[in-house]
Amino acid sequence: SKKQLIAGNWKMNASLAGSEALVRGVLEGLAAAPAVCDVAMCVPAPYLAAVQGWLSGQTAVQAGAQDVSQHASGAYTGEVSADMLRDFGVRYAIVGHSERRQYHGETDEVVAAKAQRALAAGITPIVCVGETLAEREAGHTEEVVRRQLAAVVHVNGHCITEIVVAYEPVWAIGTGKTASPEQAQQVHAVLRAQLAAASVHADRIPLLYGGSMNASNAASLLAQPDIDGGLIGGASLKVPDFLAIVAAAR
Ligand code: 13P
Repeated sequence: SKKQLIAGNWKMNASLAGSEALVRGVLEGLAAAPAVCDVAMCVPAPYLAAVQGWLSGQTAVQAGAQDVSQHASGAYTGEVSADMLRDFGVRYAIVGHSERRQYHGETDEVVAAKAQRALAAGITPIVCVGETLAEREAGHTEEVVRRQLAAVVHVNGHCITEIVVAYEPVWAIGTGKTASPEQAQQVHAVLRAQLAAASVHADRIPLLYGGSMNASNAASLLAQPDIDGGLIGGASLKVPDFLAIVAAAR
C-alpha cells in the first residue's frame, strides 16, 4: 500500500537558529533510522530559503509552506505566490488551515483558489478540513467536512485529485484533546467515500489526521485503515517527538 505522510506544521514558531537545529536534528535522526513514510516540514515563509539550503542534497524530508496566495501576482501586499514558493523548492503548501479560516476569513472558495494556484505551480496542496466543537455537538461534522472538501475537489466540472487532505477537528488543535482513533477513522471514511464517488484515484489521495497528534497517540491513529499520515503542530517543534511520530508511520 502507499506510503504514509508525516508533515510538520511549525505555525508561527521557531527562530532562524531554532529552525536550523530542528531541520538538522530531524535529518540526523532520519539518517540513523531511515523513515519508511514520506516526511515534510511546513515552515514559516521567511525561512524557506534557509530550509532549502539545509535540505539540499537529501530526499528524506521535503519542504512545505503554510499558506499560498489565491492570486498569481500583483498588488497584494504581504502575500506570497505559488511561483515564489516554487522558486524555493517547496513541495507542499497547506491551504485552508482552520487558523486561516478563523483569523483571516478564508472561505471555501478562497481555499479552493489557493489549492489551484499551488497545483498550477507544481506544488501539492494539503487541504485542511474540520469541524468546530459547536458543529460536532450539533451533529454537523460530516456535512461541514464534506462541504469544505467538495469546494476544492469539484471545480468547473473537473475533479481535482492531486491533493493531500488533512482532517483537523478544530477542537483537537493545540488543545491536547485528540480525536480518538475511532472518531478520526469515522470522518476519514466519509472523506474517502466522497473522494471515491468523485474519482477512481481516491485511494491514492493521502488523508492525514491533525490535532494534538503526539509520540504517544500517533501509532493508534496511524493504524486506522483510512488514516494515511499526520499533520503535526506542537509535536513537530521537538526533534525527538517528531521523529517518534515518523517512526510510528508506515
Ligand atoms: P497541534 O498538533 O499543535 O494540535 O496542531 C495541529 C495542527 O493544526 C496542524 O496543522
